[in-house]
Amino acid sequence: MSKNSSEYLINRKDKQYEVVIGLEVHAQVLSESKLFSTSATKFGAEPNTQVSLVDAAFPGMLPVINEFCVKQAIKTGIGLNAKINNRSVFDRKNYFYADLPQGYQISQFKDPIVGEGKVILDMPDGQKEVGIERLHLEQDAGKSIHDLDPQNTFVDLNRSGVALMEIVSKPDLRSPDEVSVYIKKLRSIMQYLGTCDGNMQEGSLRADVNISVRAKGSKEFGTRCEIKNVNSIKFMQMAIEYEANRQVNLIEEGKLIDQETRLFDTKKNETRSMRSKEDAHDYRYFPDPDLLPLEVSDEFIDELKKDIPELPDVKKKRFIDKFKLSPYEATILVSDINIAKYFEEVVAKMGKNKDIKLAVNWITGELFAVLNKKNLEISQSPVSAKNLAILINLIKNGTISGKIAKTVFELMLEGDKDPQKIVEEKGLKQQSDPKTIEALIDKIINDNREKAIEYKQGKEKLFGFFVGQTMKASGGKANPQLINEILKKKL
Ligand code: ADP
Ligand code: MG
Repeated sequence: MSKNSSEYLINRKDKQYEVVIGLEVHAQVLSESKLFSTSATKFGAEPNTQVSLVDAAFPGMLPVINEFCVKQAIKTGIGLNAKINNRSVFDRKNYFYADLPQGYQISQFKDPIVGEGKVILDMPDGQKEVGIERLHLEQDAGKSIHDLDPQNTFVDLNRSGVALMEIVSKPDLRSPDEVSVYIKKLRSIMQYLGTCDGNMQEGSLRADVNISVRAKGSKEFGTRCEIKNVNSIKFMQMAIEYEANRQVNLIEEGKLIDQETRLFDTKKNETRSMRSKEDAHDYRYFPDPDLLPLEVSDEFIDELKKDIPELPDVKKKRFIDKFKLSPYEATILVSDINIAKYFEEVVAKMGKNKDIKLAVNWITGELFAVLNKKNLEISQSPVSAKNLAILINLIKNGTISGKIAKTVFELMLEGDKDPQKIVEEKGLKQQSDPKTIEALIDKIINDNREKAIEYKQGKEKLFGFFVGQTMKASGGKANPQLINEILKKKL
């Protein structure tokens, strides 16, 4: 197996295979009520407490489309640079399952609300465009719970009827890394738009992963397998690696690949056959007679366009142009809307004489390290943007050294303390008085006469020793630049 940044190839004897991946992402619409009923959608509620007669499919109940969910889907389509269809149709996808009381899922099939679009991925070796096939609205099913009782299965209908956007990509992805960047990009676009919270642990974002392999350079696609309902990026990547290698092994043995639906066993780290691939006609799709075709005017769409905030790609460009960030730095800062907000707040609070480079380094360095360690989102940061800005200014104007700043930062973590106060209270101000530093240096040279002579005789490495001693004598507070200057004169 060879990996060249985003390229993923599988080597066998004299042959190289590439993997072809297309994703069907199910994104839960951020909405307080369901797609066709007024029930709540809160995560983690007691089972069966957010179920209306519509969601439980009582006889005679009729679905009523939730306009807000429609708007959310259209906004997402706009964010995916996609064509919004003025007319779309809700169909019934018929199948039997205990957690599907209707006996069918209402889903857009032939005429989805959003057509073709595209998403740009920032890969280490450049940008890559991934085509979007469509985005359609559909209902989620309930949840069967098999592990609470050895004899019984329980059904929780809280999720039944929750609005999902299924975002179908073209088979344009070529590696586990691209899949990871793609999912993160979709998530960030939807977070910016406020159309999906992207929380994978809570199941707000999951994907069916379609995988095939082919000889590198071949124009034709191989037969694909679809791995159902994978709910973490790590698992998607593991499933792709396993599945691609399984398919290559079959081909190498001269066998054919069955087009089938598989599942990923996260404990064994392998994919397993679930069923042979169903076809659309198996579901007996037909337009839901309870719902009219959904018609949206151009004016309706244009109104929504006015609501679209600055999206990640545009923000990234602005950060590069305005703040002179590198594309790499800008990509990190725009990846999450709250990180971008935090960064811009720090910049604003730094005032006129600001050091943006320093701010980027502190956010992506010290601050991210703390957030990672404490497993916190930036919105829960123990240090506010305002106080971080003050800290950075203290470094910039020479009040404290970068080294002392790290000590101050540690203290700031306890209750978002004002760094200015910490510096005063703890007497951490940088020692920038040449006289005081000179006195320290005189004493150190005096105490280390032999080393001073060795230095003069050419042992230049010893300069660092003197810097270190002076720093230590000052309690880490002496201005390093001044130490350097004065030492050079004195030695
Ligand atoms: P369904 O799974 O409902 O039959 P589609 O035919 O629309 O739906 O394809 C679903 C997904 O499979 C899409 O994301 C598409 O990009 C992907 N796909 C199609 N053909 C291949 C292939 N040969 N290899 C990998 N992915 C594929
Ligand atoms: Mg599918």
